[in-house]
Amino acid sequence: MPELPEIEIVCKGLAPAMIDRKIVKLKQNRKNLRIDFPENFSDKVEGAKIINIRRRAKYVLIELDNNQIIVIHLGMSGVLKVIPSDEGYKHVKHDHMVIILDDGGKVVLNDPRRFGLVMLLTNEELEEHKSFSSMGPEPFSNEFNASYLYESLQKRQGVIKSALLNQSLVAGLGNIYVCEVLYQCGISPKRVSNKITIDECNLLVISIREILDKAIKAGGSSLKDYRHTDGNLGYFQHQFAVYGKEGEKCPECDCNFSIKRINQSGRSSFYCEKRQK
Ligand SMILES: [Zn+2]
Repeated sequence: MPELPEIEIVCKGLAPAMIDRKIVKLKQNRKNLRIDFPENFSDKVEGAKIINIRRRAKYVLIELDNNQIIVIHLGMSGVLKVIPSDEGYKHVKHDHMVIILDDGGKVVLNDPRRFGLVMLLTNEELEEHKSFSSMGPEPFSNEFNASYLYESLQKRQGVIKSALLNQSLVAGLGNIYVCEVLYQCGISPKRVSNKITIDECNLLVISIREILDKAIKAGGSSLKDYRHTDGNLGYFQHQFAVYGKEGEKCPECDCNFSIKRINQSGRSSFYCEKRQK
């Protein structure tokens, strides 16, 4: 599943191909993904100019000059492919949507498992939409700081692992990065949220930003080559300290412990029992 850093890179990859271009045609090859495609979708976007592309949590927002925003979530397996005007496009299986731009370039949404979705919302509708209205601050925003986090956690009796995954507390954090952050901070995923100290909140905020930023930078360096590979935006290689490393030696302390995996609310948590208290 693409996480926040991947979506950030998707937006960066789309921007030069799409911003200031007009949509001349939108083709959809089926009625729905996880939900139906928007009603009269092509009529509402054809002829409009793309003025901005940005990320909110794990959504790609393509803003048009007619007050509409194409909202894309890549689900579990979605990718967006940028096909420059000088390259031919040949439909492949699971290409569900093709946006054709006025310079002949194309942007294609491919999603084999179809857990992704595409919506069309106005600016006003975006604010009120159930996917966005209760969403917490972005991890890189000023609003997300140690005192905000501390106050929010004080109200929660669940474990810190679940709190950080809750999108109304902070937007866009997924399982992988929460495991990495808790490891770096030395905080057990089993700790009760309202027992986390203000100093630990400070550490958490710094670590969340650091780890996401590092992943975005790693993804950025893969972006330079995207034209030379298959043009797919949505995934890149990560180096993780603990995620997926059950049984391997704890990488950053001399504890001689190995990484443990436990199940919390249906998701795997990877951590070091010695380092994370
Ligand atoms: Zn350790």
